[in-house]
Amino acid sequence: MSIEPSVRVEDKLFYNRYLVDTGRAHIKVRPHTTPSPELLTMLKACPARCYELNDKGQVEISVDGCIECGTCRVICEGSGDIEWSYPRGGYGVLFKFG
Ligand code: SF4
Repeated sequence: MSIEPSVRVEDKLFYNRYLVDTGRAHIKVRPHTTPSPELLTMLKACPARCYELNDKGQVEISVDGCIECGTCRVICEGSGDIEWSYPRGGYGVLFKFG
C-alpha cells in the first residue's frame, strides 16, 4: 500500500501572492565560477525552486517566488555564498491566500 500526498507543495504555493520589489532582490548569490556544495544543495532544497543553474554552470536566484522560509540562509550560513535579508516592508510573499 502506498501513501500518496493529498496536497502537493506546488499546489499550495499557487495560492501565495507576491509583491515584487523590482530591482531590489532581498537575496543575492555571491559571484562565483564554480558553485560550492552548499549552492548546489539549494537547487533541490529551496521549496519554491528559486535557485537554478545557468548555462555556465553557475547558480542563480530569482527571488520573485521566495516564501522567506530561510532554508538557504541556514544552509549557506557558513559558506558565505549568499547575502540574505527580508524584503522591504510591504513587499515579498503574502500568505493569506493559502
Ligand atoms: S528563503 Fe526559502 S524560498 Fe526563499 S530562496 Fe531561500 S530557500 Fe528558497
